[in-house]
Amino acid sequence: VEYYLLNIEKQKHLNAFVEVYTNEALLRADEIDAKISAGKAGRLAGMVVGLKDVLCYTGHRVQAGSNILEGFVSPYTATAVQRLLDEDAIIIGRQNCDEFAMGSSNESSAFGPVLNAADPTRVPGGSSGGSAVAVQADMCLASLGSDTGGSVRQPAAFCGIVGVKPTYGRISRYGLIAYASSFDCIGTFTRSVEDAALLLEIMSGKDEWDSTSSQTPVNTYSQQKETRQKYKIAYIRETIENDAIAPEIRETILKTLSWLKDNGHEIEAIDFPLLEYILPTYYILTTAEASSNLSRFDGVRYGYRTKDADSLDNLYKKTRSEGFGEEVKRRILLGTFVLSANYYDAYYTKAQRVRRLIQEKTKELFAEHDFILSPVAPTTAFKLGENTSDPLEMYLADIFSVQANVVGIPGISIPTGVDSQGLPIGIQIMSDFFEEDELLTFAHYLQ
Ligand code: GLN
Repeated sequence: VEYYLLNIEKQKHLNAFVEVYTNEALLRADEIDAKISAGKAGRLAGMVVGLKDVLCYTGHRVQAGSNILEGFVSPYTATAVQRLLDEDAIIIGRQNCDEFAMGSSNESSAFGPVLNAADPTRVPGGSSGGSAVAVQADMCLASLGSDTGGSVRQPAAFCGIVGVKPTYGRISRYGLIAYASSFDCIGTFTRSVEDAALLLEIMSGKDEWDSTSSQTPVNTYSQQKETRQKYKIAYIRETIENDAIAPEIRETILKTLSWLKDNGHEIEAIDFPLLEYILPTYYILTTAEASSNLSRFDGVRYGYRTKDADSLDNLYKKTRSEGFGEEVKRRILLGTFVLSANYYDAYYTKAQRVRRLIQEKTKELFAEHDFILSPVAPTTAFKLGENTSDPLEMYLADIFSVQANVVGIPGISIPTGVDSQGLPIGIQIMSDFFEEDELLTFAHYLQ
């Protein structure tokens, strides 16, 4: 704990943590020390973990990187966090993120941007940027983030670490501040695949507080399995043969594919005609769900309340105008629009149908293949401010990561080296529903 606290202090300028639980973490370390001596320690004894500022932890503030939750203290603990505590993990603090997890660069936080430790003039990715940088710069051993459309995998790639988004429903969402409920997943940031496997195994499984959490039995992800002699790996042709992808990322992926081939695995290039619809489907449905989820922040129930309102209507309006940032407002407007009576069928209903098609077509791919391999993002970490003037540019950067969430399947981002500027490159592997065990085994083999 002391080691990590020192690293946090030394690297304050990266802005990864919003709050550090110094005394509490030190006290807990002593308690766990005693448990270890007594031979009663849990499986995560002493593991120092940071939490993205969207995860509830009793008695601690949580703000989703937003002014609207200023002063709010959580009255309960997220199930995922509780399961880590039950195994004697130590929570070291809460980490900066894009406001309400909306963003791909961590520039929309009310606490200011997070800087990438590989090059502080660049973004760490988002929305879980603080959680990624905290692991990248050794401020904790692991972090929990949330992944609605890539927010764990993309910052993991930008920061050169491992990021896992499990199957939808694998980990309970109870205590995770909602962005888009049918997409949201809790995920992990670690340096190794083994650490990710252990954390996932402990957090996964049915939870009576989240009706969408799955009954599917949890495998022993942390026990190392034999890799198969021959995996069948697909890649979607356009995700690699595409001018929008940085050449060095393309080369890395091609190199990995040819290495796999040389080692006896089967590689197949496939077409996915629905590719161009994935991103619009994602942004229509997530903004719709967000506009509904965020309606609860009205100035009455949680956090911030405007100082001068002369009527209830004004209280709502002013609180929300003052409390939410620009990106969140943009999404609430988009979401409200696609859900409005005149446009509901044209946008929301249609996007739901397209989502189903994308799900079915992706599922079909897994009848023939074990994994889909792709870039995580079209570029490595970009400069701060580079994509902020045009929100559409920023949304386009999510092209490869959102498929896993639209479908609900698991995905992992593992580091595969650096480009000529020394910036980390990640590679993404996706598998069929609840195939985390195979996915982690394969990722471990590749790492
Ligand atoms: N960048 C995506 C978005 O802004 C993903 C965010 C996330 O996964 N939380 O919606």
